[in-house]
Amino acid sequence: MGRIPKWRRVAFIPEITYFKPVGVSLRALDKVRLSVEEAEAIRLKDLEGLGQEECAQRMSISRPTFHRVLESARSKLADALLNGKAIRIEGGNFEMAMRRFRCTNGHEWDVPFEVMVTEPPRFCPTCNTLNILPTQPFGFGWGRRGWPRHRGRGTISRGGQPTSGQE
Ligand SMILES: [Zn+2]
Repeated sequence: MGRIPKWRRVAFIPEITYFKPVGVSLRALDKVRLSVEEAEAIRLKDLEGLGQEECAQRMSISRPTFHRVLESARSKLADALLNGKAIRIEGGNFEMAMRRFRCTNGHEWDVPFEVMVTEPPRFCPTCNTLNILPTQPFGFGWGRRGWPRHRGRGTISRGGQPTSGQE
C-alpha cells in the first residue's frame, strides 16, 4: 500500500480551469498542470493576502507544507507565463471545505471537510438509502464515477466526462 494521502482543504474551485497563450494551437503548446490545492494556495496567499499561518490552517495542512504547495504553484505559474505554456488546473489531493450531498429521494445535507476526510457519508441520514451523490459545484464533473471513494483525486473536467483516470 502507498502512503495515506494527505487531504488539503479547499474552499474554492475556479470556474475556468484552462488557459493558453493566444494564437498558438494547444497541440503545439507545452502544458503546466496546476493542482486544485496549488490554485487554492495562490488564492489564499496572493489574492486574499492572508498570512502563511492562516493559509495553512484554512487548508488544514502544516505551514511548511503550505509553503511547499505555494512555491510549487508560483513556479508553475511563472514557467507558464514567461515560457508561453498552457495552464490546466486539475486533480490533486483535495477535499472541499463543505460538500453538499443529495440522495435519490431528494434529501440534501452538508458534510464538512473534517468528516469527509475521516468518514465520508455512505447513506442518507434521513431515509437511509445508499444511493447518494455529492452535488457538483459550478457544474463540474467530478473525477471518476464511484466518487466519493476517489474523492478529489480524479480529473476535473467540464461536461462531466473524466479526461483521464490517473496522472
Ligand atoms: Zn434520503
